[in-house]
Amino acid sequence: MTDIGFIGLGNMGGPMARNLVKAGHRVRGFDLAPDAIATAKDNGIETVASATEAAQGAEVVISMLPAGQHVRAVYTGPDGVIGLAKKGTLLIDCSTIDVASARAVQEAAAAAGMEMLDAPVSGGVAGADAGTLTFMVGGTDGAFGHGKPLLEVMGRTIVHAGGPGNGQAAKVCNNMILGITMIGISEAFTLADKLGLDQGKLFEISSKASGSCWAMLNHLPVPGIVEASAANRDYKPGFAAAMMHKDLKLSQEAAAQAGVATPMGAEAAALYTMFVNAGNGGLDYSAIIKLIRGT
Ligand code: NAD
Repeated sequence: MTDIGFIGLGNMGGPMARNLVKAGHRVRGFDLAPDAIATAKDNGIETVASATEAAQGAEVVISMLPAGQHVRAVYTGPDGVIGLAKKGTLLIDCSTIDVASARAVQEAAAAAGMEMLDAPVSGGVAGADAGTLTFMVGGTDGAFGHGKPLLEVMGRTIVHAGGPGNGQAAKVCNNMILGITMIGISEAFTLADKLGLDQGKLFEISSKASGSCWAMLNHLPVPGIVEASAANRDYKPGFAAAMMHKDLKLSQEAAAQAGVATPMGAEAAALYTMFVNAGNGGLDYSAIIKLIRGT
């Protein structure tokens, strides 16, 4: 049994913390939102009054927060976890945040004698619920070895991506590919339709030809062809367009900092910005086909 402090018990953090309790760990959790606290209590999590209280005495602190500014505040702000947790505590941030914040917080942790991992996930709320998330992990070999058994409780695939920040780097690079390919698929299937080519026929051909890719095979944005597609459920997510928008913006921040030109990533970010600003953030990311179709 490990004593775990869990900070951020929202849509993802709530079920992740619950799975740790189910596996026999002691979890003391904190969230700013009363609803999240109430659900956590129902799930057997001991709830406490602050992030500091969750971290005090914990062997491992896990966080699942909205963005980089929240992660910086929780770990390095006034009364931050890094100043108050005991030396040797392992810190694991599972939020999706910018690479620079992840590296800055890990540097502060190392200076205070603590190991830290950035461990963003893919798999969504369903994966968090089922304990089948994929974790992309950045940090030292020692920290990875120490944290892996707990990540295995919450996920099915755990990949060590390299040193500090590399988990976040993997997440933004992967999701930039996904955003760009979804837009490409949407363009091709819309064009096929306008050319009088049946979209099912295009799928039959392209899914076995050089245009095939994971997004086409799993998240085809047109209905009635791929069973798992959100298109069959009025684009109920799935993976929300607002999340894709966030990840594409993070990819562009990272590209600017690294001095890399990613014109397709920039275009994908702009298209998702338009789509989300038009009130579509709650639809699945594959609904971007509506923007391409002009519907
Ligand atoms: P969420 O908004 O449901 O949960 C975040 C929680 O953090 C909220 O309950 C909020 O009250 C809490 N919080 C904010 N600041 C806090 C603070 N200072 N102290 C304590 N609690 C605080 O979001 P989510 O969907 O659970 O996503 C969490 C992270 O996981 C995000 O970074 C997101 O990008 C990433 N992610 C989400 C999904 C998804 O499908 N939801 C998939 C992959 C990755």
